[in-house]
Amino acid sequence: MSDNCIFCKIANKEIPSKFVYEDEQVVAFNDLNPVAPTHVLIVPKEHRLNLSQYEEKDEQLLGHVLTVAAHIARELGLEESGYRVITNAGPDAGQSVMHTHFHLLGGRKLNFDKQ
Ligand code: AMP
Repeated sequence: MSDNCIFCKIANKEIPSKFVYEDEQVVAFNDLNPVAPTHVLIVPKEHRLNLSQYEEKDEQLLGHVLTVAAHIARELGLEESGYRVITNAGPDAGQSVMHTHFHLLGGRKLNFDKQ
């Protein structure tokens, strides 16, 4: 938990939010400003800046995030049409929330750049 981190507050239920998915390690909720018909954020509960702060010992968690993404995509019926999972790390990627998160995007044709 990091003070003044919006995603920590959401994950800790200090800010009410409707979760699409939750387990011990991650929460998932809809993006406030969706750029696609489906735009879910999958957020590890533990506060870390971005992917740069993960190492080999974190492989279980990172693998879990992708498994959760596939699960949510299935639940939302995106398997046939397709979807994208991305994470932005640092300024050149346009990271705006400084707590690791993964975007699950689908429901329209996605162009190749960021979203
Ligand atoms: P990024 O630019 O990769 O850091 O993505 C941050 C994302 O978080 C953006 O798509 C925002 O729309 C989204 N976002 C910011 N604040 C909230 C919030 N309170 N609830 C849901 N999504 C949020």
